[in-house]
Amino acid sequence: MKFNIITIFPHIFDSYLNESILKRAQKKGLIKIKIYDLRKFTKDKHRKVDDKPFGGGPGMVIKIEPLVKAISSILKLKTKNQKLKTKIVLFTPGGKQFDNETAINLARNYDNLILIAGRYEGIDERIKKVLHNSGLKIHELSIGPYVLTGGELPAMTIIDAVSRQIKGVLGKRESLEEKRFGIGMPVYTRPEIFIYKGKKYRVPKVLLSGNHKKIEEWHRIK
Ligand code: SAM
Repeated sequence: MKFNIITIFPHIFDSYLNESILKRAQKKGLIKIKIYDLRKFTKDKHRKVDDKPFGGGPGMVIKIEPLVKAISSILKLKTKNQKLKTKIVLFTPGGKQFDNETAINLARNYDNLILIAGRYEGIDERIKKVLHNSGLKIHELSIGPYVLTGGELPAMTIIDAVSRQIKGVLGKRESLEEKRFGIGMPVYTRPEIFIYKGKKYRVPKVLLSGNHKKIEEWHRIK
């Protein structure tokens, strides 16, 4: 799976995507992450990526020209490898709520995601028509019912959640546990009894029993 991120803040991604499981997945070649600085697709000397909104309003809007150029250049790379199935993801707080099912669907059906991180008041709306008229499918996704300052965290959220669905990204144990017991399973580790301000906090007895059948049952009803 290749993730292409279009952003005006390319350094935001440096730490998160280069640690732990995602770092390992990139080293193994299971995922590729490429970051495109939108400013590099501008022509003017100030590298302007935003402008005032028509109709007035306090914020700025991401301009359409550099964005179309950035997307076209990513798609050109794609033509070298015709087999790639591409989806363009536009982040917006008003989009379809991203969930684990969407992550599974993206991981199974696509191998080239173009993630567009908005900023300010958002992106010139015409981008949707341009992409649509070019025969490209876009997915407008929200990562939750709140407004963030930009689409960079949503992009990292999707990369993380989708990567976990790609075979080999998680260790055998991690992926097995999730499949067996589902999402949000309560977990415990040593010590068996944790004492805080005179109170004892114990691990559920069944987990210490060694009885695997009972432990599985306990997980299922949790
Ligand atoms: N006034 C805009 C609106 O109502 O859509 C808010 C724009 S927000 C400040 C700037 C950018 O952050 C958006 O274009 C989008 O890319 C991203 N963003 C903010 N919240 C988001 C969310 N919950 N899910 C996905 N993207 C989000």
